[in-house]
Formats: sequence, structure tokens, C-alpha cells
Amino acid sequence: MTANYIDGKHVAESLRASIREDVARFVTEFGRPPGLEVILVGDDPASQVYTRNKERAAADVGIKGKLHVLPGDATEQSVLELLGRLNRDDSVDGILVQLPLPKQIRDQRVLDAIDPAKDVDGFHPINAGLLAIGRPGLVPCTPRGCMKLLEHAKCTLQGAHAVVVGRSNIVGKPMAQLLLAANATVTIAHSRTRNLRDVCRSADVLVVAVGQPELVRGDWIAPEAVVIDVGMNRVPRPSTENETVAAHAGTSPPKTKLVGDVAFDEAKAVARAITPVPGGVGPMTIACLLENTVLAARAREAARLAR
Ligand code: NDP
Repeated sequence: MTANYIDGKHVAESLRASIREDVARFVTEFGRPPGLEVILVGDDPASQVYTRNKERAAADVGIKGKLHVLPGDATEQSVLELLGRLNRDDSVDGILVQLPLPKQIRDQRVLDAIDPAKDVDGFHPINAGLLAIGRPGLVPCTPRGCMKLLEHAKCTLQGAHAVVVGRSNIVGKPMAQLLLAANATVTIAHSRTRNLRDVCRSADVLVVAVGQPELVRGDWIAPEAVVIDVGMNRVPRPSTENETVAAHAGTSPPKTKLVGDVAFDEAKAVARAITPVPGGVGPMTIACLLENTVLAARAREAARLAR
């Protein structure tokens, strides 16, 4: 059986088109665009790329984005002061602090200082708590994107056995909460889980977020399962003969490639549907960040009108 490929790039593009329309409606209703402020501390190249992409994606749908870059030796206090200013600024609807932070700054201390109403990453304990008890709040972007991909794949969640591999606060745990809220029977697996292969094989829906290149093999997947691969791992890329020639000519292509936590070629021969890496969950994460920004902006305007 050939797996049905879940095209996250395509789903993300249509989501962004509908967000663009929603932003235009917001501007008409409230006379201002939603505002997203991104804080980057230090000069980690990957973080620079991520924040630039977020800024560009925000501008593309009409959200007013702003990037604050602090030096790598910035103090925790200086980040907290900036957050305080952004929390108080009424034109700011969403605040995102790019992780990881330099070691002199405590991630949790900083994330806890973001106004939960502006916490578009959904990492604040208040938003995590609201999700856990099934009340509306801002939901982390990656699991939110995964749910949209499952919906796009017309995956029946009610009564299905969903296995989430990984229990991080930003992916695994919120993913499990969302699947539970959709009436799936949820198993959360992690590094201490025994017989992980068999646990995975028992899944109708398998979401993998471990950060281990191609950990999940084709024979870990039940026929007809739907597989969402959250992993993004850079691995060395073997060069082809042409590239070896190009390398000698000094025009060599990148020496690494991006792979997921699932061995894609093996898995796609078994699964009913599977996300690729890249082009699966990644594009959805950014689109859901934009969606969260508009949701936060609308909720803040509604709260202002109710005062
Ligand atoms: P963390 O490192 O925070 O968590 C990894 C989880 O996987 C932990 O719960 C860990 O278990 C579990 N784990 C690690 N190794 C194994 C193993 N061999 N068997 C079973 N479980 C294992 O990672 P994140 O949740 O932040 O990210 C996971 C992956 O998703 C990464 O590749 C990351 O790059 C990617 N990612 C992709 C995003 C996207 O937009 N596409 C967004 C966010 C993350 P334990 O708790 O026991 O240590």
C-alpha cells in the first residue's frame, strides 16, 4: 500500500490565506493590525533563521511584526524589563521569546513573565493549565498544527488509539491533551517506555516528537495508521558522484540534510497517511503562530470592549 502524503506546506498556505483575510477584517473592525513581537537573545544561527522567518510570515499576512535582538550576554533582568514593557503596550497582542536562551537566563523565569493573554507560543503555565482542564486558552503552535494536519487527512480521532512519542511541555504533552480532547484514547511514550516498537504498532494515530533521527522504523507502524512526524534533525548528507565533482570545483551543496524522527520511506509503504520532513509539521507551526496572534488580538479587543 502506498501511503497518502500529508502536504503540510499546502495546508499551511491555505491557512495563511484565511488568516490574511481575517487580519484584513480585524483591521477594518479595530483600526489597527494585530501586533506580534519576537525576542531573540544572542546570535545562534538557527534561531536567527527561525525569527526572521516568523517576522516575514507575519508581514506576509498583514500582522505588524517586530524583532527585538538582545546581545548574547544580556542579563535575565534586561529580558524581563523588555517583557514588562511589551506586556504593558496595548498595541502588542503576541509576544514570543525564541528558545533556547543563553545559559545565564532561565527559560522558565522568562516564559512565566509573559502576559498569558499575549503568550502566542502557549507555553505559560496558565495556558498549559487551561489546556489540561479543557478550557479555552492559547495552545502551543506545533501540536495545534498537528491537529489541523490530522483533520486534513480526515483521520477519525474519536475512539482511536493515539500514541504520542515524546513528553516535552512544548510538543508531546500538549499534543496528548489535544488528542484526548478529541476523544482519542491516548498513550504517551518516552525514553523509559518498554517495548516502544510494540506500543507504536498499537497506534491508529502515531505522533512522534523525540528528536532522534529516523528512530521509528517501518515495522513499528500498523498498516493503515496515520503518522505525524514532528522531528527535525540535521544529519550528514552523503554526497553523490556529481557533488563530489562539484566539491572539487568549490561549488559543493550543503553537507547536511533534514530528516524526521520516522524513517519516511519505510513508513510510507505501510501507513495510510504520513507527513514528510521537511514540508509537514514545520510550515504548520509558523501558520499556527500567526493564527494564535490573531486569536490573541481578538480576545484582547473583546476583553477591552467588555470593560
Ligand atoms: P525534547 O528534547 O524536549 O523532548 C524529547 C522527548 O522525546 C522527551 O520526552 C524524551 O523522553 C523523548 N525521547 C527521546 N529519545 C527517545 C527514545 N529513544 N525513545 C523514546 N522517547 C524518546 O524535544 P521537543 O519535544 O522539543 O522536540 C522533539 C522534536 O521535534 C525535535 O526533533 C525538534 O526539533 C522537533 N520540533 C519540531 C517542531 C516543528 O515545528 N516541526 C517544533 C518543535 C520541535 P524523556 O522525557 O524520557 O527524556
